[in-house]
Amino acid sequence: MTPRRISVFGATGSIGANTLDLVRRDPEAYDVVALTGHANIADLAEAAVVLRADVAVTSDGDRLDDLRVALGGSGVEAAAGQGALLEAADRPADWVMSGIVGVAGLAPGLRALRHGGTLALANKESMVCAGPLMLADAARYGATLLPVDSEHSAIFQALVGEDRDAVEKVIVTGSGGGLRDWPVTRLPDATPADAGSHPNWDMGQRITIDSASMFNKAMELIEAHELFALPPERIETVIHPQSLVHALVQYVDGALMAHMGAPDMRHAIGYALHWPHRRPLPVDRLDLAAMARLDFHDPDPERYPAIGLAFDVMRAGALAGAVFNAAKEAALDRFLAGEIRFTDMARDVARVLDVAQGEGWLDADAPDLDMILQADRRARECLRDLPRT
Ligand code: NDP
Ligand code: MG
Repeated sequence: MTPRRISVFGATGSIGANTLDLVRRDPEAYDVVALTGHANIADLAEAAVVLRADVAVTSDGDRLDDLRVALGGSGVEAAAGQGALLEAADRPADWVMSGIVGVAGLAPGLRALRHGGTLALANKESMVCAGPLMLADAARYGATLLPVDSEHSAIFQALVGEDRDAVEKVIVTGSGGGLRDWPVTRLPDATPADAGSHPNWDMGQRITIDSASMFNKAMELIEAHELFALPPERIETVIHPQSLVHALVQYVDGALMAHMGAPDMRHAIGYALHWPHRRPLPVDRLDLAAMARLDFHDPDPERYPAIGLAFDVMRAGALAGAVFNAAKEAALDRFLAGEIRFTDMARDVARVLDVAQGEGWLDADAPDLDMILQADRRARECLRDLPRT
């Protein structure tokens, strides 16, 4: 069998490591085109050498020399900077992982769609900021967009072979995050370390803190709205502390199709890697008899104000997703820097959305990448300029 050409954007991150874990188990099956990272040059170079990538790219233009040294005489090409990232995305590949964190993943993902292969989308920011643009470009270039976020992979799998018109609603589950048992009154005191440990999933720092605030779930609700073309009233979220049911699709006949599995991203990544087939994956199997119980409850809006904001964003449409994501990223930066409290993040994001709505810069007809990135910058500035108390 001819090896499949694959590229992994964000190869040094949590999604990237899980993707490369699957690739390393069957190296003959893949011809690695490009691997990208940002600051972690050692891991990037190691993976590129072992997997014999054509090119290793750091998006940080100042790290080219470090990367060259780390690649030694391996024959792997080194490249650095934003231009190099886009050039890597232009290199034809059959399957590309979009695993960069943040809005930085949007432009390379859009470029990768142009060669008409498969884009495995872990970077949820792409859908939140630019859902209609991503879908339009995928259709235009004949590319396949597959969800990797576990909940969206679960929904996608529960939709296989079904009539989309028969879907009544989708239910996205969430663990409630690392602070779910804290009294609401203590949440303002939570530190990044408190918020940065997850009860079930092992993920990058930013998404783990976003899980504690449920900003991650808010992003996922918007992502589901865009990916599956569902109106906000047909999307719900429920807290499910065990993280074993990843999402559910309810059909008009009352059937509720749940996707269950161990919380291991290699399932969703592997599903996207092998789609439309299913292949064996090295993930734990659930022992139903040992699973004492499955709990579900509605999220408390006072504890998780981000969820309400997600529905406001879906209803506002246009640039609201880009503004929401940027404000959320900037608020998280301020929280990590110790400038604002945990609970200030949702308050500040709501304020930025209010300002943008009031000043009329949420509106746009079919926004393109430049308009989206401009709204992103404006939202970050707006958040930085908010009063500190
Ligand atoms: P990590 O922080 O673990 O990894 C991020 C990756 O992006 C790293 O390769 C990092 O490079 C690279 N990177 C960081 N900043 C930039 C930049 N400015 N330009 C280009 N590349 C950059 O994140 P995760 O793997 O957790 O998440 C990646 C994406 O997948 C996010 O959108 C997240 O929401 C989504 N996701 C993640 C899940 C998970 O289990 N982790 C689950 C579902 C979705 P370096 O490390 O070298 O600096
Ligand atoms: Mg998820």
